[in-house]
Amino acid sequence: MSMEGKIAIVTGGSRGIGRAVCLELARQGADIVFSYAGNTAAAEETLAQLQALGVRARGVQGSVADPEAVKNLVDTAVKELGGVHILVNNAGITRDGLAMTLKEEDFDAVIETNLKGAFLCMKAVARPMMKARYGRIVNLSSVVALRGNPGQINYCASKGGVIGMTKSLAKELGSRGITVNAVAPGYIQTDMTAAMAEGAQQAMLSTIPLGRAGRPEDVARAVAFLASDAAAYITGQVLGVDGGMGM
Ligand code: NDP
Repeated sequence: MSMEGKIAIVTGGSRGIGRAVCLELARQGADIVFSYAGNTAAAEETLAQLQALGVRARGVQGSVADPEAVKNLVDTAVKELGGVHILVNNAGITRDGLAMTLKEEDFDAVIETNLKGAFLCMKAVARPMMKARYGRIVNLSSVVALRGNPGQINYCASKGGVIGMTKSLAKELGSRGITVNAVAPGYIQTDMTAAMAEGAQQAMLSTIPLGRAGRPEDVARAVAFLASDAAAYITGQVLGVDGGMGM
């Protein structure tokens, strides 16, 4: 899965799954530009780990929901490093609450970041990838996208939408040598899931055939495969990385 000479953009690379993806792609030889929302200390740690792997790396602060920030992110890859071959749309948030009482602003915030943010990033890389007649786009969906989850109507809508966007763009860009796929993680141990109540975490664990929570590295390896030349004939697919939870 060598990625020597490839340049990858990873959104939300400061922590969790995004950091693991940055490190996995870098281990395969890719140069990395990652974005983050505001956690500078975490971003500096990712940057230091990438530099220790000997690749070129940049960390860019800015929201994926802000078109100007997205332009700046893609410009950093194209103008500073020389192009963009891989995009991993990983940045994501939750604002949980039962539908009846969920605030509109919490619905909007999740859609803006998880759905519109992924769209803006895909739109921004489409032109340079089409020109290069090469591209690998991997989007982070979720096991709950097609199953639903009480208290996550906004999150499930955003992650279901990500699957629709993945398949639409796969059809639009396939003739240009660009693949677009999604991974659908299950229960992965990160800050996002650490915020869940202990009872909810135990309930979730009991539904996983492999009997354990996932690690960010479990997801990162699947993302790296879909972002590699080994997956050249795979597009428009959703790969569950969930220990069997989504069956
Ligand atoms: P974390 O909460 O651990 O990390 C989120 C990352 O996204 C951080 O780097 C954060 O930056 C960044 N981020 C948040 N909002 C924005 C924004 N508006 N613009 C740019 N970056 C942003 O999340 P996980 O690692 O758990 O999740 C990563 C992805 O995987 C998400 O899309 C999530 O929905 C998905 N997923 C996770 C699962 C899990 O069990 N953990 C299961 C299924 C899917 P900063 O550090 O600056 O805040």
